[in-house]
Amino acid sequence: MTTGTIEAPRSDEALVLGALRANINRIDNQLIELLAQRGKVAADIGLAKRVTGRPIHDPQRESTHAAELEEAASRMGLPARLGRELALLLARHGCAAQLDQPKAPRARGIAPDSESFRLARWEPGRHTVVSIGEAQIGAGLHEVIAGPCAVESERQIHDAADHARACGVRILRGGAFKPRTSPYDFQGTGMQGVRWLADAAHSRGMACVTEVLDPSDATAVAEHADLLQIGARNMQNVPLLRACAATGRPILLKRGAAATIRELLCAAEYILLAGNPHVILCERGLRTFERETRNTLDLSSVPVLRELTHLPVIVDPSHAAGRDELILALCRAAHAVGADGAIVEMHPRKCEAKCDQRQALTPGQLGKICNEVHLVQMHLA
Ligand code: PEP
Ligand code: MN
Repeated sequence: MTTGTIEAPRSDEALVLGALRANINRIDNQLIELLAQRGKVAADIGLAKRVTGRPIHDPQRESTHAAELEEAASRMGLPARLGRELALLLARHGCAAQLDQPKAPRARGIAPDSESFRLARWEPGRHTVVSIGEAQIGAGLHEVIAGPCAVESERQIHDAADHARACGVRILRGGAFKPRTSPYDFQGTGMQGVRWLADAAHSRGMACVTEVLDPSDATAVAEHADLLQIGARNMQNVPLLRACAATGRPILLKRGAAATIRELLCAAEYILLAGNPHVILCERGLRTFERETRNTLDLSSVPVLRELTHLPVIVDPSHAAGRDELILALCRAAHAVGADGAIVEMHPRKCEAKCDQRQALTPGQLGKICNEVHLVQMHLA
């Protein structure tokens, strides 16, 4: 066995090395500062894409940019591979920065008496983001989901999709199975309507959401729809909750008109317990003594849910207000209280709407709402 001592570097060598390292540290810190600046620009690009209805991920732009960086690296006498690797790294982080918007502060601790919704309750580090097509609900952007109350015909839903797309909407709504109060009212177009809706959305690069009324329809609807809605009347319909959960599709769970917040969370628990973590909650107004609006929008449920659960929360001002002229104000309010989005009804020809005509937005009204929401987000970013 040999023993040896490592010779300490001579002090002048140590000085040179120290100076060089200080120099490289300075450069690295500048790189980090530049990356932070780049992250902010990437976030603005994300919002600009939202406003113009473009997808976040743009493979064409990524490959052109990679080729440019490869060339730039070669010009500077660096290996071209370095430029390409840097481009890949930046693209990955750029995409994340485009999605990553600041969130409202979270709860301080785990809610007491929350064992009955232990999977849905908020706990440190738990934060659910639900991906639907290009949209990431719960990631910080306020998503506006829009479309007609009911899918009435192929032409109507394609026209609605055109208007929604032009407003930058990424998830098209449309009820095919309608839970109507009177059996004499229009009941929807059923599975044919689901197919029309999916085609109208997907052919324009949008995702779609539709309500499931009967547990036995869940699998068939899930073959076409990206997000399954469980309506207010069915919030506690356990067989329906389980059947929709079993499809693995994300679920939009609406709060019942007379359900408490904790009952809503227990309903969500059935879906989570069935192994489906992709749940979005929706506040859509409560039945009260008030007659000026269709329902009373319980906006306080949004910050309360923020305290109690890690699940994303959106608001439905259409079914709450029941009148188109109130919806812009309620969308502003939903955004202000920290909702992850809103779902609103819009008909391409309001006067022809077969269902919930009074609350249907015109395409122009939807445009105003979307512009405002997108601009406010851009401003706050
Ligand atoms: C709907 O969104 O089409 C609907 C019927 O809403 P709710 O279940 O909230 O009444
Ligand atoms: Mn409706």
